[in-house]
Amino acid sequence: MAAKKNKKTEKIKEQIEPASSSLRTRKRVILSFPPSLVQTPVTYMLAKEYDIVSNILRAEIAPEESGKLVMEMDGLPENLDKAIERIKESGIEITEIARKVTFAMDKCIHCGACISVCLAGALKLDKDFHLEFIEPKCTVCEMCVTSCPVDVVNIDI
Ligand code: SF4
Ligand code: SF4
Repeated sequence: MAAKKNKKTEKIKEQIEPASSSLRTRKRVILSFPPSLVQTPVTYMLAKEYDIVSNILRAEIAPEESGKLVMEMDGLPENLDKAIERIKESGIEITEIARKVTFAMDKCIHCGACISVCLAGALKLDKDFHLEFIEPKCTVCEMCVTSCPVDVVNIDI
């Protein structure tokens, strides 16, 4: 009887889990750590307490000095909001990156000038020497905007 009940529970879980995982969303944030909090294990806390997967896009942190972390957080919307509040309360400054970079690819001449200024590795030439934009890696630093000779790059706010 108990085994039958467990099977039923497992089946319900299987039906629920794909739905909840499809509700996951991503937020890109910049974290600014004061020197006293530079060693805070933020990504561990996000994973353990909020089931958030962190993808660090850029890190400039040295022990005993203030630091910056640009990262993407992947999780359920309510968990992302709670985690952001938690980070704020801890004394770490957190700013959401709402801006987005877009490329008018029909005008791009694939010269590669933007690739050399993209420290995040979000731009590369594909096997046909066409520009490829890997958006998840973009930190919206805007360096590529002025590097483009034909004004292809735009910042959407
Ligand atoms: S804004 Fe441009 S240069 Fe900066 S990370 Fe994004 S694609 Fe790269
Ligand atoms: S600099 Fe402008 S034209 Fe050149 S590859 Fe980049 S987006 Fe295209």
